[in-house]
Amino acid sequence: MRKIILAILALSLMSATPSERLAIVDIASAGPSNLNILKKLGGVSWWSEFGGSLLVSATPRGFINMERTGFVAKRLASEISAEDLRVVVGGHISMRLPGGSNVLIDEGRIRLVEGDSVAIAALDQLADARASLAGVFPVNAGSVVLQRQANHDWNQENLANDMVMLADAAGKVSRERWWGDVQKLSSWNRHIGAAGNVQARDWIKSSLAAIQGMEVTVQEFKVQGRAAWNVVGILTGERLKQESGVAAAGDRGLLIVGGHFDSTSERTASAAPGAEDNASGAAGVIELARVMADTPHSHDIIFAAFSGEEQGLYGSAAFVAELPDAEKKRVRGVVTMDMIAYSKGGSALGVLIETESVHAAFARTFSDAAAAVTKLQVSTSFNPFGSDHMSFLEAGLPAILAIDADWNRYSHYHRSTDTADKLTPELAHEILKMNAGALAILTR
Ligand SMILES: [Zn+2]
Repeated sequence: MRKIILAILALSLMSATPSERLAIVDIASAGPSNLNILKKLGGVSWWSEFGGSLLVSATPRGFINMERTGFVAKRLASEISAEDLRVVVGGHISMRLPGGSNVLIDEGRIRLVEGDSVAIAALDQLADARASLAGVFPVNAGSVVLQRQANHDWNQENLANDMVMLADAAGKVSRERWWGDVQKLSSWNRHIGAAGNVQARDWIKSSLAAIQGMEVTVQEFKVQGRAAWNVVGILTGERLKQESGVAAAGDRGLLIVGGHFDSTSERTASAAPGAEDNASGAAGVIELARVMADTPHSHDIIFAAFSGEEQGLYGSAAFVAELPDAEKKRVRGVVTMDMIAYSKGGSALGVLIETESVHAAFARTFSDAAAAVTKLQVSTSFNPFGSDHMSFLEAGLPAILAIDADWNRYSHYHRSTDTADKLTPELAHEILKMNAGALAILTR
């Protein structure tokens, strides 16, 4: 409720004076190094950042200033105001937007949509439905909706001392082991209630249990009346912080690595190999467990393969609900992976990190690690939606989702044809290197 009131307040503050006009500015046109200048230009009364574009409200003077700075601004129709805009997050390309709406900025998982009052009402209603297909948010002045790392020349000095540690952990990720696990997992129909779901559960359990130092449990919960299970492994932090002079046991923090292993398809009776969604991420959990078991760490790390995600994040919600308060207090961060291996090809390998803006610094560890040890193009979204990271964010815990930038264009999404041959293992390998590097820093 509080969020809604704030959103209305923000919108009323943003009502443009008659001479103001909304426009979409191509950040690359005058170069990312001028982005901060653009945000403060005279005559630009507010802005919101969407990856490669900046939405601005500007007076005629603002437009002259933008032109002088070298920015190319595309003016929207004069009658369009912030109230006519919504941020739509997470819709697959097959999802129809309401009639009367237009996509103004398409950044894949994140779109800026304009519409008449009927279309906007329909969009808002869409977001209210439980297990809805997309998140719908108002446009707020001064908000960074999507941040392209390439548009921010952050200095990497903070990481300079950590490079050896980062590269060591990243170098331990094995694409071949991960790929073998993806093929194994996608050989089962992992629909909730299917025999393959139980077989996958048992196989994940034994895969984690085979890792030195890992203690594994199975957590049962219900999905719409049916039994379902999370598989949860924990590695205890063993490297004591000698310099602090205190015994580490009571001081150990907790990191959580998760991804769902259940899958879905057209019908419960049809096959659901779910190679991309989400054998890719579940196999990633197992691979990161192997890497971290072989990497010095002071803090405890939980590796969780969730189930019941496809029906509405049931497994991660059950996990968070059963995590005692004392354990929640120990959580230093959570990384979830959902769909990390599809690249539509012909483009750079892209990853989207999703979190809330209060956890921007936590997310930064991952994008910095990516810049240091991968060739990933990283964007960070601050309107999280629709995967297991939400269960943690809603409990106030710092959490990110790592998801490939092209997932919403994957034509086999939630179909029996989501098989391993459609994947780009190189992309998953890069994402796992990013996560391994960040985990090494976060758990040292
Ligand atoms: Zn998924």
